[in-house]
Amino acid sequence: MIKRSYLLTHVMGIPVRVHITLIILLPFLAMQFARWFGVARFFFGLLCAAGVFVCVALHELGHSWVAIRKGCRVSEIMLLPIGGVAKMNNIPSRPKDEFLVAFAGPAVSALLALLCRFIGELFAALGIVPLAVLLYILSAVNLALFLFNLLPSFPMDGGRIFRAFMTPRLGRLKATALAARIGRIMSVIGGIFGLFHGDFILVLIAIFIYQAAGAEYRAVYMQQMSQGWFTVEQSADVDVSPPPYARKVPPVWKGWRNKTNAFFNDLFKNWQ
Ligand code: ZN
Repeated sequence: MIKRSYLLTHVMGIPVRVHITLIILLPFLAMQFARWFGVARFFFGLLCAAGVFVCVALHELGHSWVAIRKGCRVSEIMLLPIGGVAKMNNIPSRPKDEFLVAFAGPAVSALLALLCRFIGELFAALGIVPLAVLLYILSAVNLALFLFNLLPSFPMDGGRIFRAFMTPRLGRLKATALAARIGRIMSVIGGIFGLFHGDFILVLIAIFIYQAAGAEYRAVYMQQMSQGWFTVEQSADVDVSPPPYARKVPPVWKGWRNKTNAFFNDLFKNWQ
């Protein structure tokens, strides 16, 4: 049987996995990188692709490092052809913590952009041109990761930062809806652009963003609905002429409610 993902390593106790689709698509990605950067050699493209995914993993580890400090559990980091995801069992809903977790990834990318540029200059000064070019490319990729992730839309980090800022003003649901809508509009524009330019990866990313933006909104919507539902149930004892059982929640109901809560908490494992 073919496994869906393979374990690369553990960092901070978090398993870093690579998805089977990335392994299959790696040669294709290498060619794409070589084409983008005008470097004809396949091996060089492969090295670029590997470097990019190391940088993506470090970006996700940045999120994870802060998330763990905020009391979250990170169950795994998965590397996919379109980037990486850190799977978190819960993300902080306090706007300030949400901002810090979301900003940690782009902050790592910004630091990597500077670091790669610096080391690249060093190699250039030493006359080791191929390595210098590789590091310049990685510097540019990290800068792109930093900027792209700060777009104020889901599922990019900027979407979470945007929501953290807008939640006190609009409430969590409306703020999520706004960020999800921006994400969908941008993904449609990006997808059309990709189609016209024959850029297969851009189309894939656009489809993923469109889908993920909707999923994020649905998760928050369900969360709020379930909270609302429990509020309605709890307020049943202020109903006009309530039946006697509505005055107190019987223990059997309480157990059932806790089970339902646990079910929803399990369902809304957040992806960062
Ligand atoms: Zn991120």
